[in-house]
Amino acid sequence: MLRTLTTALGILCALSAQLALAVDMKPVQVAAHSWYVMGKAGMASSANEGFMSNAGFVITDDSVVVFDALGTPALGEQLIAEIRKLTTKPIQRLIVSHYHADHYYGTQAFKAIGAEVWAHRRGREALESDGAQARLAQRKADLFPFVDDNTRLLPADRWLEGNTDFEKGGLHFRITYVGPAHAPDDIIMEVVEDRVIFAGDMLFRGRVPFVGDADTSHWLLALDHLIDAHPAVVVPGHGPASTEPQSDLTLTRDYLKYVRESMGKAVSELKSFDEAYADTDWSRWSRLPAFREANRANAYNVFLQMEKGSLR
Ligand SMILES: [Zn+2]
Repeated sequence: MLRTLTTALGILCALSAQLALAVDMKPVQVAAHSWYVMGKAGMASSANEGFMSNAGFVITDDSVVVFDALGTPALGEQLIAEIRKLTTKPIQRLIVSHYHADHYYGTQAFKAIGAEVWAHRRGREALESDGAQARLAQRKADLFPFVDDNTRLLPADRWLEGNTDFEKGGLHFRITYVGPAHAPDDIIMEVVEDRVIFAGDMLFRGRVPFVGDADTSHWLLALDHLIDAHPAVVVPGHGPASTEPQSDLTLTRDYLKYVRESMGKAVSELKSFDEAYADTDWSRWSRLPAFREANRANAYNVFLQMEKGSLR
């Protein structure tokens, strides 16, 4: 009886482990050495197993560098398994774009295979904040069993002070600190020889971005930096890679500029937010995906920021 139970349990465990590997994750090559996997559209849920953000990786002559760890430990493991299908070279370094749950909860899978984790030092504040614990509780509720008591919020092994260049297996990498923009600790990674930039959440392609409590003035500077770098491909944190980065980057930049200009004007005219929102012509953006979900909250956040700025 006990044996039957143990066997049944064993099968169940094997089944749930398989279930956790059930998402459709297919690496896409964007340049000679650069690849990414693309999460599903929408919010993190048990249905998509939390696979709603992107991660990238670069196969150099002697090793693999990964950009972002995805949103659960199981997804981190699956990404490693996908990389293993392409190369047996050691996965030596994981760069975390910013400490938002969907980009770093898979970190423990990379630590387990000995990868060294790099992130910007301001990620540490985010990681140690009450907000990080609240987010974990919410993710455990929304993403069980993919996020559970075994999910650990891990710090980087090396907290970067600012821009950092390095070379690996014949390729040159440029990490640029572009925060505080979408998050306090935003970094982007350029693979020089491939002319690819992994941009984290700096670019939301073909849709209205999610502003949250982002610092939109720094975000605009980051977008200018990306535009000036003339990459051939930009891999965003969500959605498909952009092979026409100039127009995609310009769209996000123009949107942020427009929201800042219109809300800034309203603040200087001492309008209420409701008035300001109603008086703004949104027709250029209203047909873009995520407009309905994100635009009013974006405008409100920018309005509050501009109001604070005007009091200084
Ligand atoms: Zn984010």
